[in-house]
Amino acid sequence: MVHEFDAVIVGAGGSGLFSALEASKKARTAVISKLYPIRSHTGAAQGGISAALGNVEEDKPEWHAFDTVKGGDYLVDQGAALLLAEDAVQAVYELENWGLPFNRTPEGRIDQRRFGGHTRNFGEAAVRRACYAADRTGHMILQTLYQQCIKNEVSFFDEYQIVDVILEGNRCGGVVAVNLATSELHVFKAKAVLFATGGFGRIFKITSNAYANTGDGPAVLARRGVPMEDMEFYQFHPTGIRGLGILISEAVRGEGGQLFNREGKRFMETYAPTLLDLAPRDMVARAILTEIRAGRGMRGDKKIDDYVHLDASHLGKEIIMSKLPDITEFCKTYLGVDPAEQPIPVQPTAHYAMGGIPTDLDGRVVADGKGGLYEGLYAVGECACVSVHGANRLGTNSLLDLVVFGRRGGKHIAEYVQGADSPRMGKDPAEPSAARIRELMDGKKGPQAGTIREEMQVEMMEKVGIYRNEGDMKKAVEKMQELRGQYREVRVQDTTGTFNTDLLEMIELGNLLDLSLLTAASAENRKESRGAHAREDYPDRDDANWLRHTLAVLEGDDVKIDYKEVDTSRWEPKPRVY
Ligand SMILES: Cc1cc2nc3c(=O)[nH]c(=O)nc-3n(C[C@H](O)[C@H](O)[C@H](O)COP(=O)(O)OP(=O)(O)OC[C@H]3O[C@@H](n4cnc5c(N)ncnc54)[C@H](O)[C@@H]3O)c2cc1C
Repeated sequence: MVHEFDAVIVGAGGSGLFSALEASKKARTAVISKLYPIRSHTGAAQGGISAALGNVEEDKPEWHAFDTVKGGDYLVDQGAALLLAEDAVQAVYELENWGLPFNRTPEGRIDQRRFGGHTRNFGEAAVRRACYAADRTGHMILQTLYQQCIKNEVSFFDEYQIVDVILEGNRCGGVVAVNLATSELHVFKAKAVLFATGGFGRIFKITSNAYANTGDGPAVLARRGVPMEDMEFYQFHPTGIRGLGILISEAVRGEGGQLFNREGKRFMETYAPTLLDLAPRDMVARAILTEIRAGRGMRGDKKIDDYVHLDASHLGKEIIMSKLPDITEFCKTYLGVDPAEQPIPVQPTAHYAMGGIPTDLDGRVVADGKGGLYEGLYAVGECACVSVHGANRLGTNSLLDLVVFGRRGGKHIAEYVQGADSPRMGKDPAEPSAARIRELMDGKKGPQAGTIREEMQVEMMEKVGIYRNEGDMKKAVEKMQELRGQYREVRVQDTTGTFNTDLLEMIELGNLLDLSLLTAASAENRKESRGAHAREDYPDRDDANWLRHTLAVLEGDDVKIDYKEVDTSRWEPKPRVY
């Protein structure tokens, strides 16, 4: 079946919905989503969305942009960061006007709280910059945007999983998707396609990410030769529930929660004397691991030292219930711990992809390191890399990235499609996907997909995790190549047509393997430590050789590396001290 639209948005998280809202003002727009829209991972975002509103204390977009650049260890494109911080104010008020129920100050303004790495006056002290709706900020953003899209008559194709993109040279002409209900392939022809497919935390064993976060967008594009930017920078959030990885928002520390080791010491005093527990995530995650490795972690069930304590009990029941109700529920359900009374056992969890599909400031996908662009192809949100997060994202800057660049991408599409011709497509653009699905379902016996997934996740966690070194990463690259070889032989066991989740998960596993390989190879290539990429064999940042973005191109089982300049037009790179 073939559908035709001016614009197709793949993904119904915050970034996809915001783009759809803007594009639909002038273009016939469809949103394709493998999940029902409000089940997107944006709905799990807890802590907040940053904007220098200055509602509680003095703040400025310029300080916000600087914090973003420094937080990202100077790999951030500075023009993009300034735009992010400046547009933030309007974006948050726009969400408010659409009915987002933010928490309020006693005077009725949007309330703001502290978050890691957000400071006043270029690093003097923590500032209250995160706007929030209790600890359900993402949920509220998603509901608000979905309502607006319905009101604006955006067409939704829910529970369609895209499996391929139609690219003729550098021109994008649409996508190919499986209808989950029937397993039928549908072709969506469009003048412009925007990818907003979210993150890929599922390449790691312990992650805060939902099961659906399998990086389908970047993987589909990578297989068609689109380069992936800065894949080596993957963020570990310091505070996941021990053993499970479920996120305990940084908002707990923003409200005053503190980290303690086994000796009862507030160990962040050693690592970040000014910001303490509110230092950027890469630093706090490393500090926790360093404490654990030095034998100062708490004792786990298996008698290994593997976690630390996050204590919020001093905040009192009232604050905890009004500002952190969901976190409290998670702790009670999964740990039997009431954060108002006891400390929470936490350990770092794989959380956020700083890298992804390279784009310019309007979401247009970048083709190479010389400024070449694809035509009619866009990406925004976590699957994209614009790059405002550089080597390490600050908390609350992702939700902001979704709305600021979602709006810009959608606006650009609305104009672009006015003058664009209808794209040309080959005779049967769905045939490569159909052939692959026939093969997966031919009833032969193949290796166990579950085992491949487990091996990939454990290998990535152990060898391409918080601390890295040459030997381990080389092994990880080889392992991913071997697992991709095995994957080529896998078969689905369920060969029926209705809601065949076996088939869809198998396709997702292929995507995860491609992204694992790109991540491991990009990490092995970068011979320095910067932001979330911490190498034991190259412990220092090396601006002379490595102040540049990686562009990684998938070529069969190999990864070819190229580079792209970093925009450092505003602030000179300095050592990061907090
Ligand atoms: C637990 C948690 C808490 C967080 N808290 C915060 C926070 O407080 N503040 C903050 O700034 N950031 C936070 N983040 C990060 C932030 O929420 C995410 O980066 C962001 O929501 C991603 O939004 P997105 O629009 O890019 O993608 P998502 O919201 O993940 O949506 C992806 C969409 O793509 C669709 N999709 C994917 N693959 C396909 C396919 N093959 N075919 C069709 N559709 C597809 C899905 O159906 C979905 O609709 C948090 C993240 C997590 C995991």
